Amino acid sequence: MSLLVADVAVVGGGPAGSLAARQLAAFDFDVVLVHQPRRQRQHLGESLSASAPRLLASYGLELPPSVYEPRPSDHFVRWGGREDRIAAQPEGGDGEGQRLIRRDRLDDWALAGARSAGVRVVEGSATTAADGLVVRRQDQDELRVAARALVDASGRSGVLTRRDRDRPGFRTTALTAHFAPGEREGTLIESFPDGWVWSAPVVGGRRDVTVMLDAADAGRAEERFREAVREVDLGGFVTGDLLTPVRAADVTPYRLRSAATAEGSPLVAVGDAASALDPLSGLGTMKAMDSGLTAAIVLRTALGRPQNAELALAFHAAKERGLALEAEERLGGFHAEETRFAQRGFWRRRARKSSPPAPPVRLPADGRLRAAAGARVETRGVLQGDWIVPAEVVVRPDRFRPAHKVAGIALAELFRAVSAWGGIRRTLQEFPAPEPAVRTALAWLVGERFLIPGAPGAPGGAD
Ligand SMILES: Cc1cc2nc3c(=O)[nH]c(=O)nc-3n(C[C@H](O)[C@H](O)[C@H](O)COP(=O)(O)OP(=O)(O)OC[C@H]3O[C@@H](n4cnc5c(N)ncnc54)[C@H](O)[C@@H]3O)c2cc1C
Repeated sequence: MSLLVADVAVVGGGPAGSLAARQLAAFDFDVVLVHQPRRQRQHLGESLSASAPRLLASYGLELPPSVYEPRPSDHFVRWGGREDRIAAQPEGGDGEGQRLIRRDRLDDWALAGARSAGVRVVEGSATTAADGLVVRRQDQDELRVAARALVDASGRSGVLTRRDRDRPGFRTTALTAHFAPGEREGTLIESFPDGWVWSAPVVGGRRDVTVMLDAADAGRAEERFREAVREVDLGGFVTGDLLTPVRAADVTPYRLRSAATAEGSPLVAVGDAASALDPLSGLGTMKAMDSGLTAAIVLRTALGRPQNAELALAFHAAKERGLALEAEERLGGFHAEETRFAQRGFWRRRARKSSPPAPPVRLPADGRLRAAAGARVETRGVLQGDWIVPAEVVVRPDRFRPAHKVAGIALAELFRAVSAWGGIRRTLQEFPAPEPAVRTALAWLVGERFLIPGAPGAPGGAD
């Protein structure tokens, strides 16, 4: 068995793993990426969030135009008995709209970027070993990889971390096939009694139709797919019969209990290995890229500033968990909006009462504010440039993620000032920062229920 020694070993060359590896190499770490090429997967009409280019640009990266196309301008949502036509592109088309991606090309771009940043890419299938990884390679001997830190970017396989997953009380299967296009453009999402359908244009001028169903219902894939397609109205969007076989994929959401551990050497999970979002989100790829790029900063801190290692790993775990929990709540609420089928198993299992997003708060000119129950200041890791550093943040029990700054104002300092002074007018006048920014941050603390109206010390206030 041969041995490779590296600073960091990454398992999985999808968007999360390749971007994590590339960024770690840019930080001068010696990185090995173990990559098991994916079996040719059917092109899906995968959408990429409008904020992805901005995220990548903040790391000096840019998606080549060959990787995506703008989404057609109309997005039709037939849900809860309503049909909404939503613009997928902003008015004026400033290039910030949603995109449809070619996942094969996106993955190739990300992996090529890792290679050119100096990452050593090994083709094979990795499993975990006592002090690193063992890689099975085709027609070659097994390879051992010893590293100071490991990244699990193996997607749903979760080869290093999957035992630690929290799963919901349902399983979802996606059944996918292609059709010839009809005369109507646009993407479509439509609910039916036992699931929902997504359709979008894909490469080669075809249209992808993907049906989400309870896994238990998805046996006899083609028959079930045809039944579902008959229940929705694809009129004008597709023509003729299926052009491809119906393929099934598990799309059940889950999340790791902790996406970062430091028993021995640091191990972080990124992308789908850390959590898979319900496909309704359309955010999996964007989340995977963000997760990989941030994890590189987390590991840079853990390895380069060991005094902050624990803080950095806790930052990663809290961020991944918070994102997944926020998505669960939001998407549970979206499932609950389909009231027509509320009694059907598919919808009953997925619907959740969620609190509506807080409306923007207009601060009165004056009045008293105090800390909400359980709201407090804590020291946590925050992202600052290319490091995770300790900083004071505000937290409260039922909010999934801590908050650091709004409008450039350190929220912990403002929270403390209000707790001491109480008055809105005095805080706006005396807090040492420009008044409009203080007003914005104060309104945010009220809107997010860190601060509530009332005099300090009144019942129901801070612990
Ligand atoms: C049907 C369907 C529709 C979707 N639609 C959308 C959408 O519209 N928009 C969106 O943003 N997202 C969508 N997603 C989700 C999106 O595809 C994922 O969130 C994203 O691919 C996660 O990226 P990743 O890098 O974490 O994992 P992956 O892309 O899964 O990459 C993991 C890599 O690890 C490799 N690997 C696995 N095991 C090993 C091993 N033992 N050794 C070495 N390598 C290994 C795999 O071969 C793969 O290359 C969809 C997913 C599905 C299934």
